Amino acid sequence: MIKVLDSFVADKIAAGEVIERPVSAVKELVENSIDAGAHSIIVEIRGGGKSYIRVTDDGCGISFDEAETAFLRHATSKISGIADLDNIVSLGFRGEALASISAVSRLTMVTRRAEDNSGVKLVLHGGRVVSKERTGCNTGTTIIVEDLFYNTPARRKFMKSDAREASSIIELIQQYAVCYSDKRIMMISNGTTLFTTNGDGDTSAVIRLLYPSISRNGLIPVSGEEVSGFVSDPGSTMSTRKGQLFFVNGRLVSSPVIEKGLEEGYQGRIFSGFPAAVLFIESEPSDIDVNIHPGKQEIRFLRQDEVKGHITDAVSRAVMTGAGVPKGFVKKLETPAEIKLNPIAENNQETEQTSIREFLSGLEREVPVEAAAVAETPDTSYVPVSSHVPDTEPSGSAGYQPVRQEVRPAPFDFNDLSFKGYVFNTYIIMQGRDELFIFDQHAAHERVFYEKFMRGYNNSAHSPQPVLTSFTINVSHDVYSMSREWLSDLIRMGYDIEDFGDCTFVVRGIPPYMSIDEAEGFARGYAEAAGEEGGSNRVVIDKLITKSCKSAVKAHDVLSEQEINDLMSKLSECDNPYSCPHGRPTFIRISSYDIERSFRRK
Ligand code: ADP
Ligand code: MG
Repeated sequence: MIKVLDSFVADKIAAGEVIERPVSAVKELVENSIDAGAHSIIVEIRGGGKSYIRVTDDGCGISFDEAETAFLRHATSKISGIADLDNIVSLGFRGEALASISAVSRLTMVTRRAEDNSGVKLVLHGGRVVSKERTGCNTGTTIIVEDLFYNTPARRKFMKSDAREASSIIELIQQYAVCYSDKRIMMISNGTTLFTTNGDGDTSAVIRLLYPSISRNGLIPVSGEEVSGFVSDPGSTMSTRKGQLFFVNGRLVSSPVIEKGLEEGYQGRIFSGFPAAVLFIESEPSDIDVNIHPGKQEIRFLRQDEVKGHITDAVSRAVMTGAGVPKGFVKKLETPAEIKLNPIAENNQETEQTSIREFLSGLEREVPVEAAAVAETPDTSYVPVSSHVPDTEPSGSAGYQPVRQEVRPAPFDFNDLSFKGYVFNTYIIMQGRDELFIFDQHAAHERVFYEKFMRGYNNSAHSPQPVLTSFTINVSHDVYSMSREWLSDLIRMGYDIEDFGDCTFVVRGIPPYMSIDEAEGFARGYAEAAGEEGGSNRVVIDKLITKSCKSAVKAHDVLSEQEINDLMSKLSECDNPYSCPHGRPTFIRISSYDIERSFRRK
């Protein structure tokens, strides 16, 4: 017998899709607050949100008459017809979050619109209205969710420990706080206020406050078409992608397209790990498909190559500057530290209520303790204060305001450098204005050679330049057996090279854009690398060329000051003077501030 499910049963089933864990409930509630035009949002949880979640905002509120309507499935004030689906700007649009959350919890909503004299308090248990009464309250909405999944034991079993659930929620709120730096966002767990942002729109200050590990080595501002934000320098990578936050039209998303665009922006300068980045992407709502996942985290771009290109351009313009020179002597960044939670769920309602009231009224502009650390961050020169587009529609609009960067770090100027010394027959010490630079002569030479080679390879007719005395190259048997593949490549590059039998090749002419030493090292390196790699498509050849550059230049060649100057001027002419073809830095920087700090002067 086929039965039409009772709507409450249907809600309970459907709720599992949207609301999987406490963090999903918090996400929906916070997004609703943002959509309601709130300027202040307080998130309070107990027991990792399993026993208690409260989200309080000062947004537009809901009228007495519409209070229950908000809890009906597909009840939404944000879209009215199918045409709107292409132009979704607000965060929520499915009209099922409140229905889903209320179906699996005991929920209380207290809300008032600015224009109403009194507010309304509505209580629902398992989605059924238990009570509704008029009440005095602040403008805005408070939603309290208690005993999540109390009526769906199976779902309850899937929840992790309180600490784990709390950590996911805190992480989420940190992310929103970064994206909405123009909102005051407070996070309380088990009675302890973990952080408060001041809502002044300074995104980099919020990043420094909440993600000290992302910003430890300074943040480089990024700005370009459709993209703005901050990235770490290429030397400050993290072992996971946890330091990458992407927001599209104010919505936190995960997106392989953005990840790719970011990575390509570093142009091979990331030697290992992942760069940290906070990127805000603004796209026409009709160019993105936000509905491919019920949780809405993953989005799809309709013009994905274009979006990726914009990100790559903006990031590479930001990191191909002096600010993008890796800092020396800094530890590898760690994954952002989880905020320690107060293990005991203390019930100090009294003090808490006071601080919340102060928070909402904005009387006390409290500076969180962690903010003290910000003052210590030396790299403020690269982290200009972001200026925000003023809030032209103070309430009732989607709250996201795009971040605009006005200051851009200047490209690196080699003319500012003066030669100070040469150590270990490898490293060149240069002094800039208030920084010291250490160049790796080998990496620098590799870069210079690589670019010279690439230019020659792409431009010249590749006719060999005869050498006075021919030289031979001996290779191992495995490399010899592969010679059909690499020999023709070398000839195409401009070598006059011939198989002499017995694993030996004789070279009578070299590419005109190489010196004999370089040509010999390169041919040897290319043959050996080709033996390992195999194949002859373009990508493989590029890789082989990159590898072979290493053999073409020698480390520990003692350079004269003249040669050093020569190398410096050649490096300064490179398209990418910052890293060798393998992604290792060609030079690092140490600020006078860091040196003074090491001597405990600062
Ligand atoms: P959606 O956000 O997709 O519209 P929800 O179930 O999340 O669906 O919310 C339903 C409706 O309730 C919203 O469209 C909005 O009109 C109202 N609402 C929800 N939360 C708030 C809030 N914090 N402030 C004001 N109105 C709200
Ligand atoms: Mg919603």
